[in-house]
Amino acid sequence: MSPDELKALVRTIPDFPKPGIQFRDITTLLIDGRGFAAAVDALVELARPYGADLIAGIEARGFIFSGPVARALGAGLLPVRKPGKLPGPRIGVDYALEYGTDRLEIHEGACVPGHRVLLVDDLIATGGTASATIRLLRESGATVPAALFVIDLPDLGGADLLREQGVEPHALMA
Ligand code: IMP
Repeated sequence: MSPDELKALVRTIPDFPKPGIQFRDITTLLIDGRGFAAAVDALVELARPYGADLIAGIEARGFIFSGPVARALGAGLLPVRKPGKLPGPRIGVDYALEYGTDRLEIHEGACVPGHRVLLVDDLIATGGTASATIRLLRESGATVPAALFVIDLPDLGGADLLREQGVEPHALMA
């Protein structure tokens, strides 16, 4: 499947979840078997050269892609979760949203010095979510060489922010 065909499977919903926001909806890609497989395969090929030990998937849409990518690479899967979800001792990072703050957590010891971790999410916009996750993984001593997304919204500057942090961003479409 060509990059253009893949892109045509993502629809844009105006004014969701708030007026003025153009929401990129990947559910139309997910229900297309060829499209879902093509997206996962392309992410796997981008990830493969990095030789990752762990694929970190960001709740919730990041889980959809990180699982199959980790499986294809024979890497472990590290779910990066919203507060109140993980049962064991955990470490977290708070980050700013447009209004207020949010928090992401992983289990203590899930990621250790020397681990090579790749981040996977459905979309990067401002980069706030990915950047906070990278801080959290690095606090655990992990190396984070790259981050993979299905969609990059380059006008919002997220990919540039990751480059400034020394993380190479990759996306299947803009
Ligand atoms: P950022 O932190 O501004 O880069 O926003 C990225 C996060 O918000 C990701 O976890 C996405 O799942 C979510 N997100 C932001 N905009 C959209 C969108 O248009 N479609 C789907 N997810 C979005």
